[in-house]
Amino acid sequence: MADIIRCNLAIIGTGIAGMAASIFAAERGMSVAQAGNTGMLAYTTGYFDLLGAIPASEEGGKAVGVTNPFESLPALLAANPEHPYRFVDETDMRAGFRAVTSFLSDAGLHYVTAESGNFEVPSPAGTLKRTWSVPSTMSPAVNMLADAEECVIVDFAGLKGFSARQIAANLSPGRAGLRSETVKLPGKGGEVFTENVARMLETPKGRESFAEVLAPVVGDAKWLGLPACLGIYRPDAVLQDMQERLGVTIFEIPTMPPGVPGIRIKEAFEEAASGMDLHLFRQQKMVYEGKDGDLFKLRVVGTSVEREIRAERVLLATGRFLGGGLSGERTGIRETVLGLPVEQPESRSGWHRLDYFDQRGHAVHRAGVRYDETLRPLGENGKPLDARLYAAGSVLAGADWMRMKCGAGVAISTAFKAVSNMTD
Ligand SMILES: Cc1cc2nc3c(=O)[nH]c(=O)nc-3n(C[C@H](O)[C@H](O)[C@H](O)COP(=O)(O)OP(=O)(O)OC[C@H]3O[C@@H](n4cnc5c(N)ncnc54)[C@H](O)[C@@H]3O)c2cc1C
Repeated sequence: MADIIRCNLAIIGTGIAGMAASIFAAERGMSVAQAGNTGMLAYTTGYFDLLGAIPASEEGGKAVGVTNPFESLPALLAANPEHPYRFVDETDMRAGFRAVTSFLSDAGLHYVTAESGNFEVPSPAGTLKRTWSVPSTMSPAVNMLADAEECVIVDFAGLKGFSARQIAANLSPGRAGLRSETVKLPGKGGEVFTENVARMLETPKGRESFAEVLAPVVGDAKWLGLPACLGIYRPDAVLQDMQERLGVTIFEIPTMPPGVPGIRIKEAFEEAASGMDLHLFRQQKMVYEGKDGDLFKLRVVGTSVEREIRAERVLLATGRFLGGGLSGERTGIRETVLGLPVEQPESRSGWHRLDYFDQRGHAVHRAGVRYDETLRPLGENGKPLDARLYAAGSVLAGADWMRMKCGAGVAISTAFKAVSNMTD
């Protein structure tokens, strides 16, 4: 017979929403069982977006960039009344971001969060991206962009999907004094992966040889932009050490996914989990098996020792198609854990518009579970399926995070609101 774990809350999913929910539950003294794999976290740039754009409302229209997310919330909701932000307010958003970023800071990953307006920072392609909270190893890019002194952006021979030349070219119209260089890393023939470089830079010897390779191309530059690779566990300390060795101000630029920023967050969370009242089942799934009296019955599957969970409450934080919470099938979009009704176009032909680049976005990206104002999923009858079942993150209908640049914001603020609703 499988071991039974009893807890206040079962969290299904370990992406940004699941991780944030665990942090909020721990703050409220709840015992938690949680399972999932890396989800979209593996793809994150490290930037935590709150609201970066409002999609076009009319055919042929243009999306509008957002300077101040809170000032733009009414416009977002007027044009997109089904967005999950209708049930969270500025206080929830700020409190959620504060708790998550201070948790990550305590775990060695410092974040710099905007107070009033979005930061503008380089994307992996060198275009400018508006975002709300930025790893402190990336935040110096904000001052670099406002400066005019020489800046060199460096990539590595053998590193795919990150081109210093492309980034410098894309940033150049608005920022003079940029140049690009490619260096060959010591002992690295063939393809280079940033995760391996990051692990190498955890050691002083690795940093010493990295500095020797970089020094000739840095020259007199004031700024140095590198692909996100400055260590896994203590990136601020690695950055500081490299700055001292090279006499230059360094900033990281995210790489194409999967990248080091997601690995950092995942490892920081898993490390901190050992000090929490949390049974964390990494790279495993939970299946729902019904109720045992008032308690939810779930089973953790994926290893030889299966575990049974009896939970007072459940939070569904299973993400969308990449995370596994939604599945696109011939008959439509299905919610995978509980078979919940999914808000979606009537037929597959409504999933996408004809023009891929249509600035209104595609209906498939807004599909998700329906929910009430307390973030409880709704059943077929339009009523909450269970008083103690909640959902958070990208599994919720109504947010096209790709167009609206609101991925981490929806995950963090709805997780905050759902956990608050459980305990209020
Ligand atoms: C390429 C790319 C770049 C992005 N860049 C940014 C960015 O710069 N800024 C930003 O804010 N956002 C970005 N996003 C969006 C952001 O990553 C997502 O919005 C966010 O991760 C959603 O979090 P989530 O927790 O809701 O879902 P997910 O991260 O998908 O997590 C879902 C979790 O549920 C788990 N799960 C599913 N089914 C089960 C089950 N049966 N049992 C147990 N677990 C289960 C999965 O394993 C996973 O752990 C990016 C996304 C992508 C793909």
